[in-house]
Amino acid sequence: MLAYLECHTTSYQYYQKLRRLTNPAFPDSVPNRYAELHRVKRQWQNVKEIIEFGFAHNGKQPGEGDLAYFCAGCPQPGINLPEDWKDDPEKWKYHRSYCGDGCFSQVHQEPLTEENDIWLKSGEGFMTEKTRYAEHLASAEERKDPITCHEHRALKDRSKIHKGCDVTGICSVACMRHGAFVPTAQVDMQKGERQINMDYATTKAWSYGDLTEAEFLIWGYDVNCQYQPHHKERVEASEYLAFPDGLEDKIYYAIGTWHVHGHKNECYPRHATSFIKGAGVKSAEILEARWSELNHAAPSLRYMTLAHRAEMLDALLNDMNWKTMVNLPGYISKSYHKAHEEREDAQEEFEKLDSTTSDEQRTKWASQEAQAHANRLHDVKAMDIYLSKLEGAPPRAKLELKRMEQEQNAGNNVGLTAWIVEGIEIQQQQLRIQDEIAHNPNPTTVQDIKVAKMKERLIKRFENLMNTAEYQFPDVDFTELVYRPSPWSKGKKSESDDAVITRHVPLPSQVYSSPLMPRAYRDAKDTEIILRMGEANDALQAIRTEIGYKSYVYRAQIRPYKGKNRRTRGWDNIKRSDRELKFHQKAYTNALAALRILGASAEVLAQYKDITKEDLRTVTAVSEPNARGQSKEKLAWFWSLDVAGDSDGSEHLEELYRISWLRAKSRKERWEEECVLLKSEMGWTINYYKHKSTEWTQLALGSESYKQHLAFAQSELWRFLHDRAKSEFDLYLRPGIFG
Ligand SMILES: [Zn+2]
Ligand SMILES: [Zn+2]
Repeated sequence: MLAYLECHTTSYQYYQKLRRLTNPAFPDSVPNRYAELHRVKRQWQNVKEIIEFGFAHNGKQPGEGDLAYFCAGCPQPGINLPEDWKDDPEKWKYHRSYCGDGCFSQVHQEPLTEENDIWLKSGEGFMTEKTRYAEHLASAEERKDPITCHEHRALKDRSKIHKGCDVTGICSVACMRHGAFVPTAQVDMQKGERQINMDYATTKAWSYGDLTEAEFLIWGYDVNCQYQPHHKERVEASEYLAFPDGLEDKIYYAIGTWHVHGHKNECYPRHATSFIKGAGVKSAEILEARWSELNHAAPSLRYMTLAHRAEMLDALLNDMNWKTMVNLPGYISKSYHKAHEEREDAQEEFEKLDSTTSDEQRTKWASQEAQAHANRLHDVKAMDIYLSKLEGAPPRAKLELKRMEQEQNAGNNVGLTAWIVEGIEIQQQQLRIQDEIAHNPNPTTVQDIKVAKMKERLIKRFENLMNTAEYQFPDVDFTELVYRPSPWSKGKKSESDDAVITRHVPLPSQVYSSPLMPRAYRDAKDTEIILRMGEANDALQAIRTEIGYKSYVYRAQIRPYKGKNRRTRGWDNIKRSDRELKFHQKAYTNALAALRILGASAEVLAQYKDITKEDLRTVTAVSEPNARGQSKEKLAWFWSLDVAGDSDGSEHLEELYRISWLRAKSRKERWEEECVLLKSEMGWTINYYKHKSTEWTQLALGSESYKQHLAFAQSELWRFLHDRAKSEFDLYLRPGIFG
């Protein structure tokens, strides 16, 4: 069995090995006893679990989740909490936190003939009981809620449907703080990651163990902004779903610290764990790492019968949880060291800000904060106070619409905005084609055809633009205009066949202005300024998104993988991202140049600075979330751009200051909580081991003599873990040193 857990050796491979060891020259001459071995292995595994969890001693039948280890560090009444825990003034500590994620590597191939296998398990381990789950799936209907948030690009390619598979992955739930899988709460997916799968997984996870007295529950899931709004409705509509008693209105829906950066701005304060009181500091992203470890077993699981697969997944997850459990003391004390430092740092930083805050400001902000946290469970929008009130830069589409409406209302220059937009887009398309050519120095025929088609479309757009120009500016002779050098010609003469890519676009910003120009055309300048601002805003937004994405790639696809293939994919994504960044940077530079030529006002120009290479770095907070000093990282100017611009300087500063104060306070509080939580977890872990040890001693004393030695051995094992944890934590739990 260890050969499977550690090396993912299947029974077949194992038996082949035995045959070769038996007769190295003629392994085929050794009788084939694979079927027998396989059967014995499965039964042996099953019997072993029954013994390991005490059911050979206690005379009971294992029920749901009974043949699985959960977590030693999570608070569980009746197992690892002191008797009087309900009277603890810091009762918030006893909340529970979970996170969930879809894992798409654990697929299962649909067999060619119908499976005829015996199920040894029905929900006693980690995989959920299949009959009830199937009933739920049959009765539930996946809602088609509109997507309310631009989810991260990386999320999209997860929902691929595998051909010929009856299982396309696993919806998995684990404890957020330690990453221990929750028994009974791992469910198979059939068509990508659907809410109906996760609904069942959450129901099972939250009903495991006694949560009734918990203060609140934190649920981390990277699409929670989409998952939360109708969760209650879905649960209430189904007889298969439920909330833990008394907790349905006390659930915080969190989004992982890294994923949340790929969401809308609002999602950050509404869902990041950084703003959940009592959450401590946990990323809610622990599952990805867990599954990436387990993915090595995916090929072996793919072709097993579903019954066998469930047994093996149970064994693998249990083995992971066991390792987590054994390593927990080291993990907690390491975390404590870090938390202790971070807490001091965060306190210092907050005090620095707070010391320059006026009493009036402090009172005002603190009451805003209190109100937001009081209301957030009913209305998560309350958390928007953590966002700047100053509006962010409006995208071009918004400005375009506004300008068009103005034109139509005034009955003047109707069509001008559309015409300029087309001109700007043509310029962008020229840049696209250049980019396409530059990145394929030795193009294939297919790439050649692609470029040719792009050029053809561009020629047609030029024709249309010139035709409309005649209506729009009847007095302008476009052949008479003196053009500035094309921004894309880079000083060299345009070659004739690439003429379309460097051809001049007759926008006001592209020609030398002359007093002889007709008024209508000169007036177009103002409209172009507005639209160029929009273009610049869009480019900056694209740059921010791209930098965010790149930071994400570093974190998810480069740092965790030492293996070559995965890493190569990561670097490919980085390359693609760099190319996009360059594209948007060029588009931005062009928009900025146009704004300067058009004589945009000083206020407008003050909002747009040049972008340096340095500005395009990844955000360490995302790419290396654990890197030290990231809280002090200085972000490029465009991360805090306020294009609303008409607010006066002091208002802007105060707003920035308010946000910094609120966020620094959250950071300080989270680290303070983290220290409290870690210290509590030290105690809970010790208690858990002790509980296990006592349990086995009692089983031993109540058993026939031939069963006793095993029970005593188990008791000793847990006692050993207990003693080791106690000495590990001694330093921290002794008063004074780490106060
Ligand atoms: Zn835990
Ligand atoms: Zn979101």
